Amino acid sequence: MRNLGSMQFRNDFVNTFDGDESGQLHPRQTPGMLYSKALPTPVRDVKLLAWSEDLAKELEIAKPSGQDEINILGGNAVNPSMQPYAACYAGHQFGNWAGQLGDGRAITLGELETSTGKIWELQLKGAGPTPYSRRADGRAVLRSSVREYLMSEAMYHLGVPTTRALSLVSTGDRVMRDMFYDGNAEYEPGAIVMRVAPSFLRFGNFEMPTSRNEIDNLRKLVDWTIERYYPHITGEDKILRWYQEIVERTASLMVEWLRVGFVHGVMNTDNMSILGLTIDYGPYSFVDDYDPNFTPNTTDLPGRRYAFGRQPSIAKWNLGCLGGAIAPLFANTDELVKVLDTYDNYYWSKYYSMIANKLGLDEARADDVHLFRQLDQMLSTIKPDMTIFYQLLNDLPLDTIENAGDVMNHFENSFYNQPGTEQIEMLFAFIATYIKRIKSNTISRKDSLKRMRANNPRFVLRNYLLHQSIEDLEKGDDQLFTKLQEAMKDPYSKNFDEFFVKRPGWASQKAGCSMLSCSS
Ligand code: AMP
Ligand code: MG
Repeated sequence: MRNLGSMQFRNDFVNTFDGDESGQLHPRQTPGMLYSKALPTPVRDVKLLAWSEDLAKELEIAKPSGQDEINILGGNAVNPSMQPYAACYAGHQFGNWAGQLGDGRAITLGELETSTGKIWELQLKGAGPTPYSRRADGRAVLRSSVREYLMSEAMYHLGVPTTRALSLVSTGDRVMRDMFYDGNAEYEPGAIVMRVAPSFLRFGNFEMPTSRNEIDNLRKLVDWTIERYYPHITGEDKILRWYQEIVERTASLMVEWLRVGFVHGVMNTDNMSILGLTIDYGPYSFVDDYDPNFTPNTTDLPGRRYAFGRQPSIAKWNLGCLGGAIAPLFANTDELVKVLDTYDNYYWSKYYSMIANKLGLDEARADDVHLFRQLDQMLSTIKPDMTIFYQLLNDLPLDTIENAGDVMNHFENSFYNQPGTEQIEMLFAFIATYIKRIKSNTISRKDSLKRMRANNPRFVLRNYLLHQSIEDLEKGDDQLFTKLQEAMKDPYSKNFDEFFVKRPGWASQKAGCSMLSCSS
């Protein structure tokens, strides 16, 4: 185990690319640069609120023992081998070109290599302004930091590709936020998350040089990314095959989000990982009641661009932006377009296998597509709790279900609204077809159930739980926060069934429990 304060960090990114070395933090455009050096700005008093033991083990870092090391987690001290920087990236936000964005409140401290040769990037989120902070303060509040800390770890344990979080500290400073964007700004406690990923490179990092016609920078960044993160891709057509793999990883990620009911909320191209990870946890939510139109982000309400069911098509749109960004590296764009067009087939075949797994089928057969459509229509109409519905499906007694009444009784606990006659018929019709199909499985009932249990989480970190734990934490009570940290590590078991309940009535309209603003 190594100590944060004395271990040796690498700084490959800053040693490879051109950056603004001035260290000045005032907001500005940085043409020609892929990053700007930026030291964290100290805070009043760093206190450790959470530490991810299992991630620390993987990184081979010992838990900070004294204040000197805790200070590193809050940006009040820097390990001398670190060369902290903010990355310069651009992006499309809500479908519009937004130009230079960059890390406005994330500072990469350095990269560390483990004994297995794996390299990880360590970032502080909320450690103060950078040249990319524009008019904002570079800070993060406890509310959003708890959400990022818990959710990224929860997604990891659900088996969804994601960036991770090593630590959460409070800063002792107060940060002004207008949570509802209604002119009633208030002070909230500040906090900082140390987040970790092999790389935080986004589609927007590649859009940036291209938009400035800096094609040498683009080529260098693409070559480096492939060599470092996609080392199995070599040869003449490596950039095309790299793009193909990003298309596939992104499609797989969308399927995973749909599997667990995750809605990201802000799928701008600057929030799309080049490694196919879930990145930038903001106004996200799990769906409680199954609704493809649900968006958790109040800013997204007019168009619902980033609604639950639209995520796969938005991902493809974003991949189109990435294709456009790397197009200058190709003589013509036909091949890129062809690769992008493989998205749909790839996505659908992954999606069907995923649903087949959730339903406990041996495989997704060609004529199962009808069943899958029937399922989606039924769920979108009745809008039961997604997580609970699949759990109850897991417990369905195949031989004793005889009529609609039996089905209703069985799924009772998943309903937010009592289904009407037509809806009951839809549910019964689905279940009847489903039972017939499951009886034609070529795998045993035991294996089918095992498959369902492995693909249907019993515990998801619902927004109202996060909201409650944050309210408690702000009052100095960390019981729920601690409990959630345990529960999220074990989402497929029945060990935390106190959380196996629908979203309570009071939470359906309450800000922060269902919908959220981007204010963080
Ligand atoms: P997001 O919507 O969180 O992905 O952020 C979009 C852009 O705004 C990125 O460049 C962020 O770094 C920047 N940003 C968001 N919040 C802040 C903040 N409080 N201070 C500085 N920059 C921010
Ligand atoms: Mg972002």
